[in-house]
Amino acid sequence: MMTALDSPPLNLVLDDIVRSHRPQSEAGSVPASIPHLSSPAFNRFGIAVATTSGDVFSSGDADLPFSIQSISKVFTLAMALSAGEPSALWSRVLREPSGTSFNSLVQLEVEHGIPRNPFINSGALVVTDHLMEKSADAAGHVLRFLADQVGGPGPFIDEMAAKSELANSSRNLALAHFLKDFGNLHRPAQAVVENYVRQCSIMMTCVETAKAGLFLAQGGRGAQGTVVSPSEAKRIGSIMLTCGMYDAAGEFAYRVGLPGKSGVGGGILVIVPGECSICVWSPRLDSKGNSLAGSAALADLSDRTGWSVF
Ligand code: GLN
Repeated sequence: MMTALDSPPLNLVLDDIVRSHRPQSEAGSVPASIPHLSSPAFNRFGIAVATTSGDVFSSGDADLPFSIQSISKVFTLAMALSAGEPSALWSRVLREPSGTSFNSLVQLEVEHGIPRNPFINSGALVVTDHLMEKSADAAGHVLRFLADQVGGPGPFIDEMAAKSELANSSRNLALAHFLKDFGNLHRPAQAVVENYVRQCSIMMTCVETAKAGLFLAQGGRGAQGTVVSPSEAKRIGSIMLTCGMYDAAGEFAYRVGLPGKSGVGGGILVIVPGECSICVWSPRLDSKGNSLAGSAALADLSDRTGWSVF
């Protein structure tokens, strides 16, 4: 760990991270099933750090909104747990790494409709279903939660993008119907997938995403008070570490050593407990659906700063 005396100021470190990791070529891919994710240029790269002392540092394209996609699953889980009755949720979804891709159907069938964790699509559909018991407009509820954490109306749902993803959602609908068949979905499959896709289509900048995730670095305390208890915050971090990067969770823990959650929009939210929350965004993905440049940048940043839970 660097000391305060030998560490360069964080804004200079972030500028250097952007210089070193902004993609120079069109390596990696974007998901074919979500057409609008191919819009951002391959060389987009932004990073932001929101600290528990109230500072925000950023560099690169940190103020450009991007599609948060599966990063939304961290926020919906926190909201579901803060709504009470966590045992009702945990009887419907496990907390084990899946070792399979985020939208795999096979495991759900073999394991009788109980998803391995809340961060794969099937698990997130159960969480959204749980949220819909409080509000049929679960995605709108998520958006208001994010605006509260960010302290302004920045986050918005890209409704066109949601519509086009919904038109390509056969696989998510299949997962929802499987869940329903096993008795693990209370609302109609179509309504749950619609809310899920709209929550995935929320647009936020790196600065906003880092601010929104800060409650997880400060024992569950968000911008407007308690979001979750300290022990729930710890547990969400644990699930991020073991399941946040799908079947690349082990590799990410090895390289970065921090709890993280990725989305196929190219964003990754990472938590340094007690210190800060970090969001990096670059749209091109590796074969597991995680940002190529984003993962490399976070490995570099954790090496340079000593930030790690280990
Ligand atoms: N909306 C995407 C999907 O359901 C989210 C996946 C992801 O970000 N990993 O396929």
